[in-house]
Amino acid sequence: MSIEILDGKNCIGGSKILITEKDHSFFLDFGKNFKTWGNYFEEYLQPRASVGLYDLWKLNLIPKISNIYRDDLIVSDFKEFVEKERKLNLETVFLSHAHLDHAGFISILKDDIEIVASSITKKILKALQDTGDGRAFNQFTDLKIREEEIDERGQKKLKQKKDKESIKRNFFEINRNEFEGEIDGLKFKTFYVDHSIPGALAFYFEFENISIAYTGDIRFHGKNSEGSYNFLEKIKKLKPNILITEGTRMTYESESKKESDVYKSSFEVINSNKDKLVIADFGPRNIERLETFLKIAKETDRKIVINIKDAYLLDLLKEDGFNIIDDDNLFIICEKKSKEKKCLNEVKNRYDEKVITIEDINKNLGEFILCYSFWDLTNLLDIDLKDGIYIYSSSEAYSEEQEFDIKRLFNWLHYFNLEPFGIELTNDKPKFSGDFHSSGHASYKDIKFMIDEINPEFIIPVHTEKLDIFKNLYGNKVVEKEYFEL
Ligand SMILES: [Zn+2]
Ligand SMILES: [Zn+2]
Repeated sequence: MSIEILDGKNCIGGSKILITEKDHSFFLDFGKNFKTWGNYFEEYLQPRASVGLYDLWKLNLIPKISNIYRDDLIVSDFKEFVEKERKLNLETVFLSHAHLDHAGFISILKDDIEIVASSITKKILKALQDTGDGRAFNQFTDLKIREEEIDERGQKKLKQKKDKESIKRNFFEINRNEFEGEIDGLKFKTFYVDHSIPGALAFYFEFENISIAYTGDIRFHGKNSEGSYNFLEKIKKLKPNILITEGTRMTYESESKKESDVYKSSFEVINSNKDKLVIADFGPRNIERLETFLKIAKETDRKIVINIKDAYLLDLLKEDGFNIIDDDNLFIICEKKSKEKKCLNEVKNRYDEKVITIEDINKNLGEFILCYSFWDLTNLLDIDLKDGIYIYSSSEAYSEEQEFDIKRLFNWLHYFNLEPFGIELTNDKPKFSGDFHSSGHASYKDIKFMIDEINPEFIIPVHTEKLDIFKNLYGNKVVEKEYFEL
């Protein structure tokens, strides 16, 4: 049995962990590495759609494996180079959760590779795809096949066929707290664990003489901490030989602000600014945070307002027991767009009585908490905003999902005279107060407690820049190399 960390070893995100037993292989996560991606690309410098995977392959942004990627993303001239690389007998990807640093590149995998994930994870990825830009790299759940065309100068290009039916990706959906299954002789268990996005899973695998546990991204201080403790209890008894664990916040001083702390500090600010518009900036898929602000809205006689894309996700998640979109205090903002996607218009029609405009908000600014981020701020130009409150309730910039231009944000805040909370800009450097955010990741103390309880023979830290701290604590038990065989 071998474990290869193909990406995401000494960095946070981009996790792609390859496990091979006999001649069968599977992946734990297949994420996009925002750090290496950002070395070459930005919003206006993107890989060329017409050449499929070629740019990513050339720049070493994806593992060089010949037979796992979608054929329709490989230009025919390039096929012979791809075929020279190693081949895998890959059947499955176990996906821990829907953050793109873990799930982002499943979009380029062959459609018949089975993706084991929670049904919540699948819905979040579907919402991301349906409300996104339609590029091949964002086709997580439905693949729109490309075909090669030759232009008048003989150049080969891949083009998406408009009239072609899309292909559904092969998901193995989990919708139970704990699940035990078998795929092609591979025995596995899954556990719902606590993270800053719903539907996060941790895994356990059993081979003939060896067993492995993988935490995915995990914390023990959020709303679903029960799930993480349940995982810990069960895993402890199963005694895995190898623990693959995240270590995002493996610094000695890391402490864990709870959601109740975020509630407290945000309530204080909102309650003492009664007549002002409040903008709350947090990750749209952080449902727990949305619930916190909804609670505050009710207690301060306000309404919460979300954008249409977030409403689309909440509508999908209803099936999984999230009824937040039906709450009487929740409204949906309709923005001035020349053309809205069909699926978003459908949501608008379905929740017609909840749809409001920025002008409605302008009539009584003190009545609302607007869940907006940096990317939505242009919409405020339509009203006469004299002042207001901006609560930055997100993870620190440059961490998980997106890079964030703080300087530009502050220009917007000055323009609208919005008072920032949770973030400061000193000498052009952003500082995060931490009072308005509860991390998605376990603290040093909690990771250490988890490892001590499980007491595995080998520890493989991933999703961390703090390998040295693991090493100090657990010495030779810590696997430092990218390739490990047992
Ligand atoms: Zn992550
Ligand atoms: Zn995550």
